[in-house]
Amino acid sequence: MRQESGPVDQSLVFAADVGGTYLRVALVDESGKIHQQLKQRTPKGESPDCVVNALASAAEHWSREDGRRIVAASIMVPGAVDNENAVVVQAPNLPSLINFPLKAVLEKRLGLPVLLENDANAAAVGEMWLGAARGCRDVVSVTLGTGVGGGVILDGELWRGAHGSAGEIGHTTVDPFAGLKCKCGNTGCLELFASATAIVRMTREELPRFPQSNLNREELTAERVYDAGRDGDELALSVFKTFGTYLGIGLANLINIVDPEIIVIAGGAVNGWDLFARYMQQEVDERAVRSTAAQVRIAAAECGDNAGLLGAARLAFDDLRSRI
Ligand SMILES: [Zn+2]
Repeated sequence: MRQESGPVDQSLVFAADVGGTYLRVALVDESGKIHQQLKQRTPKGESPDCVVNALASAAEHWSREDGRRIVAASIMVPGAVDNENAVVVQAPNLPSLINFPLKAVLEKRLGLPVLLENDANAAAVGEMWLGAARGCRDVVSVTLGTGVGGGVILDGELWRGAHGSAGEIGHTTVDPFAGLKCKCGNTGCLELFASATAIVRMTREELPRFPQSNLNREELTAERVYDAGRDGDELALSVFKTFGTYLGIGLANLINIVDPEIIVIAGGAVNGWDLFARYMQQEVDERAVRSTAAQVRIAAAECGDNAGLLGAARLAFDDLRSRI
């Protein structure tokens, strides 16, 4: 531990987001200011050593410049974390990390205390600290990206659940009859209808019904479908109606269980907010307990891609303070 070199409020946390596609790292201070930031492709391989080396070389590089002030590392992973044993127990996009002692290996290599956290949980903390949920105590964040992640904060504290997998809203069932298999092994998960991946799949499936659509002539990406929707393309509008409807069903279920002050919607799919929000709200209004639904705010995230890095840093500062 190096915090004896200065008060915690001048300290920096090395925060990392080990995504399925990108590895992003940052140095964050206790006001939430990002001092350094880097993004690279996540190294892939059978062994977790590539990920460990990428994290350690970024931390060691900054440590040479600013090591005096780096007091902890906080690593986010796209999977469930067993906090008691400090290992990743489930990570469909990074299987090499499963049951690997990432915390212990990094602590030894960096000489710093290391936290491990689920990426969607960290994003929820980031939005409560500096984003759309500032000042709230009961918060759910839902990240609509390649998949659908969720983080739940109750009375100001992250709720991880008894086995580290609380908030997995993406794998709640919204349509058992659709016949679609999810990578979690279940069928009919919300992630199959309300992710960027789902936008592309649903657009491809609907193409024959919309021969006039410009999307017939383009390689499909979620961004292209948003752009087409903004230009009034009927295929894109239909896809976002389906997207919003299923998302609303998932959120109504969440509201009935958690009764949060706010649900923050994050991730790349938020770009399509104007195209799906009213269908989402319609389902929430119809399906959630009426008096509650009317009071729950549903808002787009404000921290963008940095929510997780900021939340991870906040969790590390809180952890350091709890030890003082
Ligand atoms: Zn699933």
